[in-house]
Amino acid sequence: MNKLDARAVKTGPIGQFINGRYVQAGRATFENRHPATNAVIGVVHEADANVVDQAVAAARAALKGPWGKTTPQERAAILRKVAAGITARFDEFLAAEVMDTGKPVTTASHVDIPRGAANFNFFADQILTVAGEVFNTPTPDGRTAINYSVRKPRGVIAVVCPWNLPLLLMTWKVAPALACGNTVVVKPSEETPATATLLGEVMNEAGVPPGVYNVVHGFGPQSAGEYLVSHPDVDGVTFTGETRTGAAIMKAAAEFVRPVSFELGGKNAALVFADANMDAAIEGTMRSVFANCGQVCLGTERVYVQRPIYDEFVARLKKGAAGLVSGDPFAKTTTLGPLISAEHKQKVLSFYDKARSEGAEIAYGGGSQNLPAPYADGHWVQPAIWTGLPETSTIMRDEIFGPCCHITPFDDEDAVIALANDSPYGLATAIWTQDVARAHRVAAQIEVGIAWVNSWFLRDLRTAFGGSKRSGIGREGGVHGLEFYTDLRNVCVLL
Ligand code: NAD
Repeated sequence: MNKLDARAVKTGPIGQFINGRYVQAGRATFENRHPATNAVIGVVHEADANVVDQAVAAARAALKGPWGKTTPQERAAILRKVAAGITARFDEFLAAEVMDTGKPVTTASHVDIPRGAANFNFFADQILTVAGEVFNTPTPDGRTAINYSVRKPRGVIAVVCPWNLPLLLMTWKVAPALACGNTVVVKPSEETPATATLLGEVMNEAGVPPGVYNVVHGFGPQSAGEYLVSHPDVDGVTFTGETRTGAAIMKAAAEFVRPVSFELGGKNAALVFADANMDAAIEGTMRSVFANCGQVCLGTERVYVQRPIYDEFVARLKKGAAGLVSGDPFAKTTTLGPLISAEHKQKVLSFYDKARSEGAEIAYGGGSQNLPAPYADGHWVQPAIWTGLPETSTIMRDEIFGPCCHITPFDDEDAVIALANDSPYGLATAIWTQDVARAHRVAAQIEVGIAWVNSWFLRDLRTAFGGSKRSGIGREGGVHGLEFYTDLRNVCVLL
């Protein structure tokens, strides 16, 4: 067994992290499996309503304790220690993430773990530079009132996370929440419980007071997820996951009129114009379609290519897909990991079947993938590239979340903008062109939260991150998350 595998396996039964301590409480355990082999790598205690209640109570109590009196400077210093703590235990986090997700170690070591740590450093910086607003207000009797704003922590934040980038997306919420002085109860995905749990140790070592960071494990409906988002003592819910789940959480949050911050699904388009740098467009589209086995919310599933370069683009993307290598996630040569679970594999393969039944021309792959032992039972699929489907087909409408895309030719700019916008989702787009005027013109018209020009997944954490239409509510990143993580109050002083 690989040295990294061995470390992750020894983490053993995973329990809840409540009030600074690991508690193996709740219902019966459920199995945690490694997607590359489907082997059981551990068991996880599922939190029941009572355990969730304890976690929320711990978070509430911590708000009233020393944490509630910390200055932004003190919190920033602690967050930097958390970042350093993740970095110091990089290999443990890496092994845990690769074992839970099956993603190639090359991806997790460049994206998931370093960016997970970076989130804490970023929001430590951010909280020290946030400005408030001040207005001088003349009064009818000739005096002046000064109005100024005060930002207070919102309170106990429920953080509900997906499995595709477990540490990165969780810390993207936890870091700003703590920077603003909140306390959190995190519900990681049932597929990926390890790194959120390990982070508890780092929080303790960094001096985060007990109860500030809590983790409860379990599923969504009638399990830890639902108990947490329905808990009356939670002050806000931040969630990343499927749009349908977002709707269910919104209903639960509505009961006690709690705000929500949502990062949801997408059906993202790439627009490749004939004047694009072909090498860059192919390299970027390879990543946006196949990175993380297509399990990236910002990933491309609809590719529109201008007709003069269409044939060449299809041929080159096909060649790129053929060069992807599946296998041991810990091998540096592996570029395409497995899907997260047997259930998700079933879902992706049902879309592959649907593509065939809807009449797609299969440019590449589009089936299951059989690997030799020990990966024979892993959740592997081939990449898929389709052409020839109408815009109305299921493949063009629904989020698949697999290593696949459909490529459609287009002739003119207005037409392709209309095609890109013809979706209930509005998360991200990638525009490939060397015409600067066109780049700006098109980017301004695509109905998405994030438009990339000649790039993909290039992030400056100071910028707004989020989705339009059914892809989200609110924005994370930079100062934008403050709207959710703080309660803005106005003080009016008549002089
Ligand atoms: P999911 O919605 O199935 O689950 C996400 C989390 O919600 C899990 O922890 C799950 O246990 C929990 N959950 C499920 N039902 C719940 C309920 N009723 N109440 C409370 N919690 C509940 O999503 P997933 O399959 O883990 O992730 C894939 C989805 O996430 C895709 O749609 C993808 O596009 C989206 N995503 C979006 C972004 C973004 O930034 N917009 C980022 C990553 C993933």
